[in-house]
Amino acid sequence: MKGICILGATGSIGVSTLDVVARHPNLYNVVALTANKNIDALYEQCLAHSPEVVVIVDEQKATEFKTKIEHSPLANLRILSGSEALIEVATLPNVDSVMAAIVGAAGLLPTLAAAEAGKTVLLANKEALVMSGDIFMNAVEKSGAQLLPIDSEHNAIFQCMPADYQTGASAKGVRRILLTASGGPFRTMPLDELPQVTPAQAVAHPNWDMGKKISVDSATMMNKGLEMIEACLLFNLKPEQIQVVIHPQSVIHSMVDYVDGTVLAQMGCPDMRIPIAHALAYPERFESGATPLDIFAVKHMDFEPADLQRFPCLRLAYEAIQTGGTMPTILNAANEIAVEAFLNEQIRFTDIPFIIEETMKIIKSEPADSLETILEVDQHARDVAEMLICEPRF
Ligand code: NAD
Ligand code: MG
Repeated sequence: MKGICILGATGSIGVSTLDVVARHPNLYNVVALTANKNIDALYEQCLAHSPEVVVIVDEQKATEFKTKIEHSPLANLRILSGSEALIEVATLPNVDSVMAAIVGAAGLLPTLAAAEAGKTVLLANKEALVMSGDIFMNAVEKSGAQLLPIDSEHNAIFQCMPADYQTGASAKGVRRILLTASGGPFRTMPLDELPQVTPAQAVAHPNWDMGKKISVDSATMMNKGLEMIEACLLFNLKPEQIQVVIHPQSVIHSMVDYVDGTVLAQMGCPDMRIPIAHALAYPERFESGATPLDIFAVKHMDFEPADLQRFPCLRLAYEAIQTGGTMPTILNAANEIAVEAFLNEQIRFTDIPFIIEETMKIIKSEPADSLETILEVDQHARDVAEMLICEPRF
């Protein structure tokens, strides 16, 4: 039995993880679950999965939860609150695997702590990796932690990579990665209609059912930009070795192109339980609950290059990684603030890349040589983006 801690248990990835774990009760023991505020969902999860401990980051919600469980079957459950507690549960001695499924920068410290503690880290929280870059990868290397990608594209690439790619994918014959993208809900919308799109339209993804933030990122294609940076870090490749391919059917989840002309692709239905089950069972395989792919129903697959005029966020992500240093941290932080402002109807959809680009112009990149620098730059970029959003023109 392996002990698992799920950071962000109440989110889309957290729920899918528990669904897969419940199919294999002899293999995984749920040790810890964490949530930000959603105590009703957490309560149901606790009844179903009997964790030893839970973290509710929001102090007030944690107090409410304590009252809620007083006269329930959960009366003896250990409850922690505050963000420090996330680190505590991610590094418990009886936790073997940590599912990093908190959204955004809030997931960095517990995910990094899990990596430093040598846990098997199942990484969904791409923002944590993008903002901390080499610091995160060095922590993994130093502790010997196993890092398994959950993002469907990176999980696909991982499955198509040569076994010993860590010693240098290029040296093992990898020419480039074909990183697939559905193109999101606005792939074919006339450009002059984009400023008017609403948050409800932006979160309605055609193929995947996900949290709000990543759904907006998919609509702007910042998600693909973050994933391109994620791929460079995970597989030690240069940005020019990552080709983004729009593939609206989302059947192929990415490909690896080798120097001999071989292209390996991983296919499946768009269901996050597939990469989650792959990582949970690795190096074995087990059932995920996903519907098997009906190749005859697919009929045909389309591929086209990404349009950088339609999707300026993707261009900004390439610029950020090419500039290097703390620029990916700045990109990520400004994006988080801009997406939140869009969801709160403070700015338009097309203002998102504008806010990010302006923030990247105002703050100069510096060497990303310590965690303190990363956290300071992250905060600075948030402040600058907030300041821009407060300008009267928005
Ligand atoms: P979500 O919004 O559905 O869930 C987010 C989770 O994080 C919730 O459990 C929430 O309680 C928790 N959380 C939010 N703010 C927090 C904070 N400040 N402190 C602590 N916990 C907090 O998000 P999601 O769609 O499940 O995505 C989670 C991560 O996985 C993101 O980084 C996303 O990019 C990545 N990812 C998601 C999918 C997907 O299909 N949903 C696919 C690939 C990658
Ligand atoms: Mg993805």
